[in-house]
Amino acid sequence: MRYGEGLRGTRQFWNGRRCELFDMIKQIGPEGLDFFTFSAADLHWPKLHKLMSSNGNSETLAKNHQQNIIDNPHITDWFFYKRFEIFFNDVLKEKWELEDWWYRFEWQHRGSVHMHGIEKRRGVPSIEWKHMKEDENVMNEVVQYLDNLVTTINSGLDMPVPERHPCQKQKSEIRDDQQDYIDLINKLQNHTRCRPGYCLRIDKEGKQFCRFKYPKEIVEKTFVRDDGHGQPELVTARNDPYINPHS
Ligand SMILES: [Zn+2]
Repeated sequence: MRYGEGLRGTRQFWNGRRCELFDMIKQIGPEGLDFFTFSAADLHWPKLHKLMSSNGNSETLAKNHQQNIIDNPHITDWFFYKRFEIFFNDVLKEKWELEDWWYRFEWQHRGSVHMHGIEKRRGVPSIEWKHMKEDENVMNEVVQYLDNLVTTINSGLDMPVPERHPCQKQKSEIRDDQQDYIDLINKLQNHTRCRPGYCLRIDKEGKQFCRFKYPKEIVEKTFVRDDGHGQPELVTARNDPYINPHS
């Protein structure tokens, strides 16, 4: 296909977007660019399922929800897009002090939508590995900045994992933001199940290992070290061997 750039989803279309992205990074510079991901709790959001008339034939609510999504992928995608757009425009732009951004949507095997993007914030410290190694103040400034950006501290370490998915809560059920956050990380941000085809790999000796290196060691304070190939590696303070980094 020679003139496919106008056709969404073609190789030519994505090639065009890739060039735009390269140009953008060249102009604004790679410093302070962060990568972010949002996924859909499409099996759980009560407001999404209100938009879809369930046939009610399934024995359980979970099966009904699953069927709703299979029957109405366009509503599911629209809902995710709208929800993300509002959250991005009304919350993240201000909270993350965004200067520039780029994002795209993708679909997993079962058709579930998620998105990935990059963003640049205002007033980000210069992250130059050479300067960081030479100057303790520069290193401290960068570590402090990164520590505010992402965490692997579980503030609800001894709290039970909720049985009900926290995204099934109605707005009126969220009375305590801190408890809601703890429920969310304990239910959704724990890498407790390694699975073949997802994170499990086989090493040269035929032993299984998790490609994300879970479970991880407890770390008292965040630091940046050489990754063994001359590049900086961030090791965040961690009180839970299984918690995923989150913002
Ligand atoms: Zn794993």
